[in-house]
Amino acid sequence: MTRAIRPHLFYGQTQSLCEICLHPAATKIIIEGNEVYFLKRCVTHGVQRTLVSTDAEYYRRCRDWLKPGDLPMTFLSRTEFGCPLDCGLCPDHEQHSCLALIEINDHCNLTCPVCFADSAPQRAHQLDLPVIERMLDLLVRSEGEPDLLQISGGEPTLHPRILDVLRAAKKRPIRHLMLNTNGLRLAREPDFAKQLAEFTPGFEIYLQFDSLERDALLQIRGADLRGIRQQALENLERNNIATTLVAVLKKGVNDQEIGDIVRHALTWNCVRGVTFQPIQDTGRNQAFDKNRDRVLLSDIRRGLIEQNTGFDAADIIPLPCNPEAITIGYALRDGRRITPITSLLPRELLVGEGPNTIAYEKYPALKERLFQLMSLSAAGEATDLKLRELLCCLPQFEVPDALGYDRVFRVLGIQFLDRYNFCVAQVKRSCIHFVTPQERIIPFDTYNLFYRDGTDRRLRRELGLDAAGRSSSIPLRELAD
Ligand code: SF4
Ligand code: SF4
Repeated sequence: MTRAIRPHLFYGQTQSLCEICLHPAATKIIIEGNEVYFLKRCVTHGVQRTLVSTDAEYYRRCRDWLKPGDLPMTFLSRTEFGCPLDCGLCPDHEQHSCLALIEINDHCNLTCPVCFADSAPQRAHQLDLPVIERMLDLLVRSEGEPDLLQISGGEPTLHPRILDVLRAAKKRPIRHLMLNTNGLRLAREPDFAKQLAEFTPGFEIYLQFDSLERDALLQIRGADLRGIRQQALENLERNNIATTLVAVLKKGVNDQEIGDIVRHALTWNCVRGVTFQPIQDTGRNQAFDKNRDRVLLSDIRRGLIEQNTGFDAADIIPLPCNPEAITIGYALRDGRRITPITSLLPRELLVGEGPNTIAYEKYPALKERLFQLMSLSAAGEATDLKLRELLCCLPQFEVPDALGYDRVFRVLGIQFLDRYNFCVAQVKRSCIHFVTPQERIIPFDTYNLFYRDGTDRRLRRELGLDAAGRSSSIPLRELAD
């Protein structure tokens, strides 16, 4: 008699969530062929099996890219109930805020079916400027010189004091400021784009751009926004405002458009890159089906490689501070033509085992590509911008003087955590954080899952953790009442 062999490789163990009650669930990570699954066990709801990657080889390689975390200058909560119920950031967290978000309202002029913030025209709350200033100060206290801040909402351009909010952010030592927008106001009010130009350089628009197709836009945004996007981009181009396009991907709806969106981005001089983000099971996504709708980070990476974007497998690498959540590729551009450079940067350098500055002269292949690019056309606007200012986890990159930010192009895939793919190890490495009006800094993933609507308090109660009656969060909606 021979012993049976497991049909999978047991790759490790983590803690995820029961997909029904959100209670912590002990979770096996298993690999079957080229697929990675979570096998969760909830004491009440039994075993649940969820696909988390369609590229086991890349999933395993992500661990090789890990680098030691950079800590915030101060922690704002205590490690008390256990992750993820101590967000603040608590001292157990492993990363500072590479990218911080401040939501200044919940009012919006769209009602997107995929909105994780559940924003809508009938929501009317606008944070007062003094509250926003306190949040900015908190971020500066936590980060010293924050790398990247996104002003978000709701639709932040509808805040009655949006220009004062941006001025308040610019007054503080924030390296790069972004304004997230659906583009409606930018499209309809050319003068608004002109006013925003006052915040450049060091200012960028993060423009919703999910599809070039009418039907996909109707499914994702509930409106045909093709004309709006075109008009918004024309106004941004006219005012030379750096822009990143951000696309939310839904399986079978727009995941086949990754290449088209990247190529479209390259037709605009003002566009510096595209961020792709899978649809998540949070907010208004009530009809979400984990098997039908999910796009995984591995699918985004495959799309970037296979849909003729100009990037190949070696150019799309895990981001060292949170490799399982973020995949990234950098290129230099000359008009519509790009030359990827990520594969030319040694891994040791990116994970912090080498010097913290990339002097391009020391990397002959990189130097040759830079000179090739610069000899193709007149030099761009000179700036002292370093790649590090785009994403703080990368070492400083000393670009030649004549090579400005307008010659850099990046693609990024970000997969946030929801009830299906939640992983306690991964969430501790989250570097994308909300600053809240309650003076907390909370990872994007846990904020949307637990803290936005007070689910954290329900869980602590149900898990018998709230005996002392402590409460660490007040939902934004409650604060408004
Ligand atoms: S996600 Fe981070 S801040 Fe939140 S409880 Fe876990 S370790 Fe603490
Ligand atoms: S996703 Fe953005 S544009 Fe759409 S409803 Fe939400 S806040 Fe508004």
